[in-house]
Amino acid sequence: MDYDALLHEIAAQVRPLVGQGQVSRYIPALATMREDRFGIAVADVDGEVHGVGDWEVPFSIQSISKTFSLALTLARDGEHLWRRVGREPSGNPFNSLVQLEYENGVPRNPFINAGAIVVTDRLQTLTGDAGTAVLEFLRAESGNPAITADRDVADSEAAHGDRNAALAHFMASYGNLENPVPVVLEHYFRQCAVAMSCRDLALAGGFLARRGVRNDGSRLLTGSEAKRVNAVMLTCGTYDAAGDFAYRVGLPGKSGVGGGILAIVPGRCAVCVWSPGLDAHGNSVAGVAALDRFTTLTGWSVF
Ligand code: GLU
Repeated sequence: MDYDALLHEIAAQVRPLVGQGQVSRYIPALATMREDRFGIAVADVDGEVHGVGDWEVPFSIQSISKTFSLALTLARDGEHLWRRVGREPSGNPFNSLVQLEYENGVPRNPFINAGAIVVTDRLQTLTGDAGTAVLEFLRAESGNPAITADRDVADSEAAHGDRNAALAHFMASYGNLENPVPVVLEHYFRQCAVAMSCRDLALAGGFLARRGVRNDGSRLLTGSEAKRVNAVMLTCGTYDAAGDFAYRVGLPGKSGVGGGILAIVPGRCAVCVWSPGLDAHGNSVAGVAALDRFTTLTGWSVF
């Protein structure tokens, strides 16, 4: 596959969409992002990486971090995690409270905020420092030791984090948190505030394309666990538009309100695209279009 030619063609085709949509404003530190950014990178299973546009510019990974905290938790805890968080699409916005009451404080899936907070709580219990566990994994897999959490973004989120605090306290009232709410939120905000480029993220997602095997050849997840993370990405990874994403792109994917999307082609490669303009569901407008073009041009959807 001539990745460079492919990525240039995709970038040219989605260029008219770059700048469409809205940059996320509910986290003030993200509101200053330029809307005209676009980057895309592909890392194949051998760790060879290609990219075009702003593919080496760091951006706030936000909810894409939930993929990695889930994988690290499953690696340590196996199936126990599923007693505390479900794996069904929610059909509601990512920060919704409503289902929690009907389901006794057990969130629908690990990719809505409530579910990710439970995963972070479990990872905190298992490692003693969930934020650092996620950061160290991302540095190791991308080969970039300079990756860090952006303190301004984390602080901005904490200062405007009433909804996440409400979710956490509500779950704590049902006994579904093991650590104090402020500790869990601090680690959750830190993982969301990590800044990485498309290059870094495509490399870091490689273990999901290699059926659980890390860049250094060691195994993080069993093949079956990697399949499960990919399945949850496909069904729950792109907010309440996961059905439309499966329809258009047909790959496991996880998006974040920083405008990034990480998608996995099992057995072949990981793709990361970034463009900050978001649609009404919180997914990057140009990013979804680029992945749509990617699977159309390559024929590499999982379907
Ligand atoms: N840190 C963001 C929040 O909790 C993540 C949002 C996202 O990217 O979906 O609201």
